[in-house]
Amino acid sequence: MIRRAPTLKIVLALLTVIIALGSAASIKAYPPFVTFPASAPDSGIEPVAATASQAAPKDTPEPAAAPGKAVPYLQILIYHEIGAGPNGLYVAVQNFEEQMKYLYDNGYTGITLAEGRALLEGRGNAPAGQPVVLTFDDAYRSFIDHAYPVLSKYGFKATVFVIADYTGDPNYLSWEQIADIASHGMEIGSHSRTHTLLPTLESTRLNEEIAGSKAVLEQHLGQPVSSFCYPCGEYDQTVIDAVRQAGYQQAVTVKYGWATTQSPALEIPRIRISRYLTHDKFAEMFPPQSRPSSAQQ
Ligand SMILES: [Zn+2]
Repeated sequence: MIRRAPTLKIVLALLTVIIALGSAASIKAYPPFVTFPASAPDSGIEPVAATASQAAPKDTPEPAAAPGKAVPYLQILIYHEIGAGPNGLYVAVQNFEEQMKYLYDNGYTGITLAEGRALLEGRGNAPAGQPVVLTFDDAYRSFIDHAYPVLSKYGFKATVFVIADYTGDPNYLSWEQIADIASHGMEIGSHSRTHTLLPTLESTRLNEEIAGSKAVLEQHLGQPVSSFCYPCGEYDQTVIDAVRQAGYQQAVTVKYGWATTQSPALEIPRIRISRYLTHDKFAEMFPPQSRPSSAQQ
């Protein structure tokens, strides 16, 4: 035993070196979870490792595609409340204004989720400028007080996800306000009836939350509702099947990533904009684009 001790030490030392080299190599080999922009934005949520379909493109973004040509990827932003508030749901009015102004000044145009999905599929007309999809979850009253005026100033559109049974609450948009913003180009999507975690529900309740909310929204709006947003981003295959069965064309998650032509239509990733996101970090996500001169105001 005594004679073997030095050998054991050497073996242990060698093992340590091998392990160290191995982990260094694996760190090096591990793909960055977002390759572009160079640093991941402070999204306020735990990033999940990007799959091939979610990974952002490596190259500099191309300008908006011509009509009929699919855009290769889209950034879909998540907002909740716009204003001062006690938790991470709130983005300050000033920050939101700066973000929209930055997008406009740098050649971007805010569009709806349905429009974005059409562009990813090579359908629909590309806007004047690089498209970016703006989504607002839960349809808070602050959308009409603080977000809508800024969006209309820049000619941006957005998708607002309504929790159908919350519409009577003063903190949420009323049916009149929802119809009003819809008539001004905003897309209304469903965010279920009661914001319940869908994977926990038995089939009757599940269909009420998914198909039932769609029917209620369509009844109030008098137009089809094609977009769905999973409450708290929670879903499973049964939920996806119910969303498809109900006739939705696209559904968004809170999985972090850029939407690409490969993103499943009912599991589209998004980028949550946190209240703590600095303006520099926001700008890093959106390299300046040239806006066609005909669209300049
Ligand atoms: Zn929500």
